[in-house]
Amino acid sequence: MIKNIVIKTNPNDNVAIVANHAGLKRGAIVLTGIVLEEDIPMGHKVCLQTLNVGDAVIRYGQTIGFANKIIEKGSWINESNISLPQPPNLEEIPYLKSEFSTPKPLEGYTFKGYRNLDGSVGTKNLLGITTSVQCVAGITNFIENKIRKELLPLYPNVDEVVAFNHSYGCGIAIDAPAAIIPIRTIKHIAQNPNFGGEIMIIGLGCEKLRPERLLPDAYNQFSINSSQSSILYLQDESFEGFYEMVDGIMEMAERHLKKLNQRKRETCSVADLVVGMQCGGSDAFSGLTGNPVSGFAADLIVKAGGTVFFSEVTEVRDAVHLLVPRCESEEVAQKLKDEMAWYDNYLNQGNADRSANTTPGNKGGGLSNIVEKALGSIVKSGTSPIVDVISPGEKILKKGLNFVATPASDFVCGTLQLAAGMNMHVFITGRGTPYGLNMVPVIKVSSNTKLANRWHDLIDFDAGPVAFGQKTIEEMGWELFHLILEIASGNKKVATDKLGLYNDLVLFNPGPLT
Ligand code: CA
Repeated sequence: MIKNIVIKTNPNDNVAIVANHAGLKRGAIVLTGIVLEEDIPMGHKVCLQTLNVGDAVIRYGQTIGFANKIIEKGSWINESNISLPQPPNLEEIPYLKSEFSTPKPLEGYTFKGYRNLDGSVGTKNLLGITTSVQCVAGITNFIENKIRKELLPLYPNVDEVVAFNHSYGCGIAIDAPAAIIPIRTIKHIAQNPNFGGEIMIIGLGCEKLRPERLLPDAYNQFSINSSQSSILYLQDESFEGFYEMVDGIMEMAERHLKKLNQRKRETCSVADLVVGMQCGGSDAFSGLTGNPVSGFAADLIVKAGGTVFFSEVTEVRDAVHLLVPRCESEEVAQKLKDEMAWYDNYLNQGNADRSANTTPGNKGGGLSNIVEKALGSIVKSGTSPIVDVISPGEKILKKGLNFVATPASDFVCGTLQLAAGMNMHVFITGRGTPYGLNMVPVIKVSSNTKLANRWHDLIDFDAGPVAFGQKTIEEMGWELFHLILEIASGNKKVATDKLGLYNDLVLFNPGPLT
């Protein structure tokens, strides 16, 4: 006989989440004799006390909405019977810093990575090809295949060749203030630690985005198209036809491959990890299992001196009052509020509908609205102080827990997290997504065992056992931490790397097209 299991996160909650995979039927008895008034699916909320119109619905000890009709004890609470509260007013959130105890540093854990000249560490050894404009994409795809077939076998220490095609570069308002976001994103992705500092840019020649702008600030730039150059223009007049361009690019690639092939893994400290946390296809379990387990692992990495960041502005906006006190200084708190305000304005300009995030899948998984989603989402940041807040497309500067302001869209967020400098990615899902990136390993964590069983070859880590008390958050947090080190060392591959499943990178371009 399977027990009826519902989970309450905070003693003040007046709802609990159904954990049973098959849901619970009308008449089922939960907790202290509460009888279900109707069938309630897995992940959805049971009302634990009768609510009058206007009463607060409380989960995680926070108000996630207000009853819009009388809701009897034992009833199903979902988006139809609760109304959405307003987001916290940014100007009214005071900076009252939380008390942080200084945790004992975590020592003795290492991984094997590729150390770069700038001090960053790679977890893969990749030849990255950057492009300055979409016009070159056909040739870049052609060349990527040719390099993979003809050159990679000659350089066995290099894992892959990865070309970054995008829709930016021309037909854009290059001087509009917002243009800086996609431009610095492309530039910083080229500097991702997994490319080993070997920068190779293919441009057309007449585009608005000059490829020189994509080189690192302190770069010893050689003359264009000389044998040492990092930039090649297809319109270069010395090329007669397509195959001469191809030869030119192949020569350039070989120069970089020779250097990359000398990279060897060496023992590195956990302090060299830069882990980007993201979720997608969340459900009500995400905030109970996958996100707290990932948050525990995040705390371990920070205690060991490493860097973790979380993102997704629209999914933290409604919980920002809980993040402001966690900022290390008033200046960081202000940066956080400024990023939220910028995004509020961006959404308002487009007349965005606040109820459109959550998705139909989130709602099917039991998340009634964005407030409930946000409260579960921020749990993956762990409990460390926030040392810095970074604008979209910027690189992180400080070790510890950072907030990298990005949209929540999985591939847009992932693209900006690559620019921020992540060398490992943890991605938590409840509904399931085959999301993967070719530039860094993506560890996919499922929030429930039902998904992990069905998608046994797509999920890397199942946090579901936490829901049934089979394992604790702490136990599973340590397991995830060890898995991160194994994968960062190249000892194990994530599902998307085994299967070669990769999303396109998508730039965040808030600026106008012309
Ligand atoms: Ca996301």
